[in-house]
Amino acid sequence: MSNILIVAETQNGAIRECSYELVTLAQSLGGTVKSLVIGSGVGDLASQFAGKGGGETFVADDAAFANYSVDAWNKAIRAGVEASGADVVLISNTPQGWDVAPRIAAGLDVAFVSDCFNAEDQGGKLVCFRRVFNGKLDAQVTCGAGKAVLTVQPGSKEPFSGSGDGSTTALSVDLSGVRSKFVEIKQAESTGIDLTKADVVVSGGRGVGDPEKFPEVILPLANALGGAMGASRPVVDAGWLPHAHQVGSSGQVVTPKLYIACGISGAIQHLVGMKNSNYIIAINKDKDAPIFEVANLGVVGDLFEIVPALTAAVKAAKG
Ligand SMILES: Cc1cc2nc3c(=O)[nH]c(=O)nc-3n(C[C@H](O)[C@H](O)[C@H](O)COP(=O)(O)OP(=O)(O)OC[C@H]3O[C@@H](n4cnc5c(N)ncnc54)[C@H](O)[C@@H]3O)c2cc1C
Repeated sequence: MSNILIVAETQNGAIRECSYELVTLAQSLGGTVKSLVIGSGVGDLASQFAGKGGGETFVADDAAFANYSVDAWNKAIRAGVEASGADVVLISNTPQGWDVAPRIAAGLDVAFVSDCFNAEDQGGKLVCFRRVFNGKLDAQVTCGAGKAVLTVQPGSKEPFSGSGDGSTTALSVDLSGVRSKFVEIKQAESTGIDLTKADVVVSGGRGVGDPEKFPEVILPLANALGGAMGASRPVVDAGWLPHAHQVGSSGQVVTPKLYIACGISGAIQHLVGMKNSNYIIAINKDKDAPIFEVANLGVVGDLFEIVPALTAAVKAAKG
């Protein structure tokens, strides 16, 4: 690879950790790493990113970038691609990334590979890896000659923690013709559940099979252990539990002392939210479920037999 452009993302006045994960990936691809930071008053953040692996970092700093707008970001990234001479553009697979990345690729008329967990330079060809069929298969996508835009799953690489000789360069962006505009941010109402503070999280997935089984089977174990009840995304998407219970890349990231995954397959988007838990127990009837790859203790079996027995054992041990 010759030139790689990382589009860094900011949140609450800091560069997001997923942007440092892009640095790790970019460095593994080889070539020259350059970056782009977009925002209002982001000069210091850009310098910080430049010195932590971002390399030459272009800064699109304008009051118009105070809040995300797909048109404005599109223009800034296109300007960044031109200024950096990038062959490969790396964008995190976040809501912002999903929105803007395909437009960049379509506008440049180049390859687009979404939701990668890895990419490699194989003899000068860019090969991207993505999970398909709920994480059961890995697909390899080989890009042809020319530029490529990739979105990369947060949590799929370790964030780069080293340093480097970076510099910043102001990037001028023509913002004429920007049509989309920021209106407001709506915060979801608090439900009083904060999984991030729980020492124990017992989560149920699609394998629980029925919304009524959560209060009957999963919650009693969480209560017996003095913990909170979590869930995978399909459970929340089906309306079985509110979003506050969701663990994963589009839910909560939790690091409890004990995480018990019941009937959860272990898709990368779920793993991102719980893999740094201190001790992980997985209960799944499929011995090949990917969740067992991160589990400290794996139990192959029917959760409807194991979880109630475990709850009874915990209660008995507590007296
Ligand atoms: C952009 C994006 C963001 C996403 N964000 C998230 C996120 O934040 N969190 C998240 O969880 N997912 C997220 N997903 C979805 C993710 O890809 C998976 O589809 C999801 O995690 C699968 O949920 P699951 O493991 O509950 O269901 P499945 O993959 O269907 O797995 C169910 C598991 O239950 C097991 N099972 C069935 N019956 C039993 C039984 N009786 N006893 C024991 N085991 C049983 C099965 O063997 C299976 O392994 C996201 C996807 C995308 C594309």
